[in-house]
Amino acid sequence: MVAEKIKFYLNELPKSVTLVAVSKTKPENLILEAYNIGQKIFGENKVQDLVQKYEHLPKDIQWHFIGHLQTNKVKFIVPFVSLIHAVDSLKLLKEINKEALKINRTVNCLLQIYIAKEETKFGLDEKEVFQLLESSDFKALKNINISGLMGMATYTNNLSQIASEFDSLKKLHLKLKNTFFATDNSFNEISMGMSGDYKIAIANGSTMVRIGSSIFGERNY
Ligand SMILES: *Cc1c(COP(=O)(O)O)cnc(C)c1O
Repeated sequence: MVAEKIKFYLNELPKSVTLVAVSKTKPENLILEAYNIGQKIFGENKVQDLVQKYEHLPKDIQWHFIGHLQTNKVKFIVPFVSLIHAVDSLKLLKEINKEALKINRTVNCLLQIYIAKEETKFGLDEKEVFQLLESSDFKALKNINISGLMGMATYTNNLSQIASEFDSLKKLHLKLKNTFFATDNSFNEISMGMSGDYKIAIANGSTMVRIGSSIFGERNY
């Protein structure tokens, strides 16, 4: 079942789009099922679960942290995490940098941008992300690498609204790339799209989709 779904997505997604299999709340045997047919990137949103799965599962898995990260938990994932998707403050970036520096690592991060019309979602707005990237505090951080942006669209049936939210993320990405990352080749990712809206996300420039329930089944929490 899981294997079939992974095959479907690997076949369906354009080559330029990375599949993050969101395995949060799901048992290790299902992750192994996906791993065994070639899926190497998995997303988790709880630090404790991520650490436990990292310890038990094959070491060539690339673990992405996709949840809201608290500063006091950063140290647990910095040694091995391959990408942190939802960084939404300078304070958090500083903490990631501090822990990464201790072990001489550079940690890849995405800045989470608030694109939805929903109070419950996190993220920076355009003004805040400019302020962050312009600040001398940010420029002093040498052990993080900003790989791009991440966003979540409003949970709605209004497809044109979803499309316009994703489009706004793509436009902001381009603007930031030209303003702050024109000479380096790192700010390339736009993480957007989940089970319900990944097609719209890809049509609007996604480079990375985070798909959970449609691979592993509904979550019961
Ligand atoms: C759970 C989660 C997903 C996956 O959502 P599905 O609808 O199950 O595909 C993607 N991104 C984030 C940030 C999540 O928390």
